[in-house]
Amino acid sequence: MTLPQPRPGVMSIPLYEGGKSRIQGVNRVIKLSSNEAALGPSPKAVAAYAERQTTLHRYPLGDSGELRAAIAEVHGLDPARIICGAGSDEVLSLLCRAYAGPGDEVIHTAHGFLMYAIYALSVGATPVAVAERNLTADVSAILAAVTPRTKIVFLANPNNPTGTYLPKQIVAGLRAALREDIVLILDAAYAEFMDTPDYDDGTALATNTPNTVITRTFSKIYGLGGLRLGWGYGPKAIIDTMERLRSPFNISSAAQAAGAAAVRDRAHIAKAKSHNAKWMKVALQRLRGLGLEIEGESGNFVLAKFDGKDGKTAAAADEFLQSRGLIARRVENYGLPHHLRISIGADDEMEILLNALDDFMGVRHG
Ligand SMILES: *Cc1c(COP(=O)(O)O)cnc(C)c1O
Repeated sequence: MTLPQPRPGVMSIPLYEGGKSRIQGVNRVIKLSSNEAALGPSPKAVAAYAERQTTLHRYPLGDSGELRAAIAEVHGLDPARIICGAGSDEVLSLLCRAYAGPGDEVIHTAHGFLMYAIYALSVGATPVAVAERNLTADVSAILAAVTPRTKIVFLANPNNPTGTYLPKQIVAGLRAALREDIVLILDAAYAEFMDTPDYDDGTALATNTPNTVITRTFSKIYGLGGLRLGWGYGPKAIIDTMERLRSPFNISSAAQAAGAAAVRDRAHIAKAKSHNAKWMKVALQRLRGLGLEIEGESGNFVLAKFDGKDGKTAAAADEFLQSRGLIARRVENYGLPHHLRISIGADDEMEILLNALDDFMGVRHG
């Protein structure tokens, strides 16, 4: 007898592991392992979510029309060129399903978001990891990795977990140098935290080229990771193609309502951004003061390198932090065994974290 067998390749797809959220024997954990919003979601989003509880028997709008309209209004975009997904993850997955298949290659950077390779494998394509330079995407290495089989190039800008980014002129240069039939996907999950004038999320490229798509998420600064909500914006032809593969009611009605309220609450986002900027500055200064190397400064997390001297390894730091109830993210599976990624948390969480790292590194408090 032959039992059901998955398609070739399915069993070699690695399982994605999210950030840990529990420590055995610890009641109050401080979770800084998933880049979640330090201040939580907009109260207006929470209210909009709650309001939907009386109409749960109704199907949601199949095209997330009101949510797309809200996103379009706030960002000054054409709603017909926006697609919503259950997390930006779903948008990334739809892009792979639409544009790559067996025999095709999908490029991502060596320390890029893990889901890119997973989605490439899930459609039978071959993920191609391209070396970075100083933990930063390297455009000439990406271009050198392109073959006639390349269908997609993924670039997280800024990148998680490295916190580095490419300036907009460099991204435009990458687009211009890539073959026209290659889809460039700019994953701007952390765009809202960016403040430098040489950065943009790629909206202009997605507007003006026939082959660039950007993705954005409600999981990071918006604090709605539990809802699963994200969106993509790009050429009409690509969005329409993805629409053919999208499940009809992929976004729940409560998520649509909460997302629309969240995107319109600019005051909440401004508050979240300034909280992040304040603690990013302090964290960079304190951690570098401890001798920890930090390359990127973007996003709502820091990626700190432990040199391992006197047993101060990333693994030992992680263990020590956990003994204090703090969960950071080990990033060995991103090819970074000597680093920890630590999300920016709330005020009290940051105090506890920074003091714990002082203690771990042997700084005495007076
Ligand atoms: C968190 C994150 C995402 C977003 O995932 P969602 O599916 O929207 O929760 C996408 N890309 C990167 C680089 C991220 O860090």
